[in-house]
Amino acid sequence: MRRHFSMPTILSILHRFRDPSRRAPTPSIAEVLTLLRAQGEDCAALFAAADNLRRRTVGDDVHVRGIIEFSNYCTHACGYCGIRRGSNLVRYRMTPAEIVAQARQARGWGCNTVVLQSGADPWFTAGRLCKIVRAVRQAGIPAVTLSVGVRPLEELRQFAAAGCDRYLLRFETSNRALFRRIHPDETFVQRQLCLRNLRTAGIQVGSGFMIGLPGTPLATLARDILYCTRLDLDMIGCGPFLAHPGTPLGGKPLLADREIYFKTMAILRLLNPWAHIPATTAFDALAPDGRNRVLQLGANVFMPNVTPGKYRRLYQLYPNKPCVDEDGAACVGCVRGRIAGLGRRMATGPGHTLRPKTAPVRHSRGRNARAPSGGNAAQTRLDAPG
Ligand code: SF4
Repeated sequence: MRRHFSMPTILSILHRFRDPSRRAPTPSIAEVLTLLRAQGEDCAALFAAADNLRRRTVGDDVHVRGIIEFSNYCTHACGYCGIRRGSNLVRYRMTPAEIVAQARQARGWGCNTVVLQSGADPWFTAGRLCKIVRAVRQAGIPAVTLSVGVRPLEELRQFAAAGCDRYLLRFETSNRALFRRIHPDETFVQRQLCLRNLRTAGIQVGSGFMIGLPGTPLATLARDILYCTRLDLDMIGCGPFLAHPGTPLGGKPLLADREIYFKTMAILRLLNPWAHIPATTAFDALAPDGRNRVLQLGANVFMPNVTPGKYRRLYQLYPNKPCVDEDGAACVGCVRGRIAGLGRRMATGPGHTLRPKTAPVRHSRGRNARAPSGGNAAQTRLDAPG
């Protein structure tokens, strides 16, 4: 039988990520595919390598960031989202006073920082959001993350001046045509520009993508992983693709190999040793212990839902969203227990970026690798994928 000596082996790829002080060369798409296809002992080796690297870079502390979903109004109609424009559901907006009070509560429950998230809701102008961010910071919350969709540079600068430290904006998929098909109100380039503008405004950048978009080959996922890595993010938030029933993409099946969702997270840790990586809520919709597993293969952030109970059922972006009948105190209590059960501890600081200011030069390997550069935030090129 003919042997293919050029095929990269799992262990030879993992070997490159053993020393976090030296940034490993970016793998090729073929190598990422090899990791995504890992089975049995190879898969266990991938998870162990990611967990080991996580321990040596971001440590055992888990940052707990409370999410407040403050408005389910949205002018967009993304093909999979339960609160898209035109969905048949009761809409709500928390008042600014309610949002600030809830943030204060979250702090009392043990969340060091809060994430303020909404649909694309124009009622929340930059002026209103700035007042809220300022009030939340004045209430003693050491860091605030906004997640309110694409906004122009001028607004991002205002958010930064008001005390917004971080911003989440997922690019969802690096395939432009696919992006356009499932996000009819936006383009990939608009999100790309906003991510670049966040750097310009001096805000820590979080982004990520949906794992397992229906009808896409595994190479699309490999490209998303590599694109995400090229962004050199402070925070990487990814989750399984779960379409809400009643949306155009509702009912699309999950990936046959469920482990691919987890392998993706492990690979992201290997390629992004210093990024904050949350175990996102959607992993618990995939499996009851989903978030625990992600914390054991590279993640270091947990984001309990601290939205007031009366609004939770109205913010179901995807089916089987966990914790919709809980309240914030219960969610944070549960998170404490889960973290302790894993032998980890809750972090005490604000959990700002750990990404080195000037990363060591990364050598190009294959056509998908980033060209060698200084690697710091200002120099990072948000190149469009091919
Ligand atoms: S994914 Fe975001 S922007 Fe798209 S419809 Fe849902 S809330 Fe709106």
